Parts: sequence; structure tokens; C-alpha cells
Amino acid sequence: MRLLLFSGGIDSTALAYQERPDVCLTVDYGQRPAAGEIRAAAALSRHLGLRHEVAAVDFSSLGLGPLAGRPSAELARAPEWWPYRNQMLITIAGMRFVAEGLKEIMFGAVATDVHADGKAPFIRSIDRLMRVQEGGVRVMAPARRMHPLALVRASGLPRNLLGATFSCHVLDTPCGTCRGCEKHADLIARLDSGHDDDRNRPRGKAKLALSG
Ligand SMILES: [Zn+2]
Repeated sequence: MRLLLFSGGIDSTALAYQERPDVCLTVDYGQRPAAGEIRAAAALSRHLGLRHEVAAVDFSSLGLGPLAGRPSAELARAPEWWPYRNQMLITIAGMRFVAEGLKEIMFGAVATDVHADGKAPFIRSIDRLMRVQEGGVRVMAPARRMHPLALVRASGLPRNLLGATFSCHVLDTPCGTCRGCEKHADLIARLDSGHDDDRNRPRGKAKLALSG
């Protein structure tokens, strides 16, 4: 069984379209936009004919930044940093499905991720950490070397599905002003305008950083 952590954002939607996982899992970990993520992920999964599940574990009392409705930490490389979020999501996915034959967990890290838990050392480490335990589950980030624009183009994700994605950090409908909504609108505008100069931009200089 191959699982995709699916927030309903652009990156994970492109992966859902490209990889066609056996199950798409949206985790409600107490983030403020959870209802919007679940609604988008469920609709997109249904459209793609993919199995969708939701796991709810309330970590809202332990979150930081706009996703949790709290001030951002000084450690944060971007305001929306939620400490140890990706290892928490990967662990929840493993806990839920390892006994049902889970072999692979995919998540939507991209080359422009600024947080440590979207970068290569973390991906290598969490893959090894999961692999040495029961089930030998692998952790993959198929788009880890790609800019979000290149990912969307390479995946062939149709424009109508792109419009159904959801990236807000603060509300369950797009607020239009948070960093998540701004990046979402910017990426769609670039795709619509055919402006794809960022595709070949060196990894360290890319400005976009979509999450989920
Ligand atoms: Zn927003």
C-alpha cells in the first residue's frame, strides 16, 4: 500500500494526480484550516477516483504560528512553522496503516521548502527511522528536487483541479491574505500566464515555498 499525505494543497494534489496512491490521508491535527483542507482533499480524491481518509488527532495545544493561532517561534524560518509537523504527520500515517500493509508514505516536500522537515537530511532520516521498524515502511518525497511550477507542469494536473486546491493557513475558506493564500494565488497566476522562468532557477534562490 502506497499512501500520500494529502492536504489538498497544490503540491500534494499534483502528487496525487501523478502518483495515484492507494490511499490519500488528510490529518486534522488541530490546524485552523483543517476543515478546508479536508473538504478540498475529499473533493479532489473523489474526482480522481482515489481512496481518501481523515485521521483526527488534536495537537492544537502544541502548535505555533498562524496555523495554530499563536505567535510564530523565533526559530521559524517562515511564520507558519509548526514544530516537528512532518514527523508527526508521517508517524500518524504509519500508526493508522502499518498493520494494513502500508509500504510507502509520500509527502509533498518541494525544492523551495524552507523548513528543515522538508529538506533532504530530514527525508533521509525519517525514511531510515520508519524503515528500521515493523513493516519496513519507506518515506518518499518524489518532488523534493522540483520547484512547485515544474511539479505542476510535469504532473499534467488539469487547470480545473488546480482551482479546487486549498492552501490557506488561517481559515477553512481562503482568507486571501495569508502567506499560504498569497503563494497559492501567485503560483496559479504564473501557471496561467505561462511564465515559468522559475523552472530552471537554482534551488537556493527560488522564492516560492508552497507547503502541503
Ligand atoms: Zn489564507
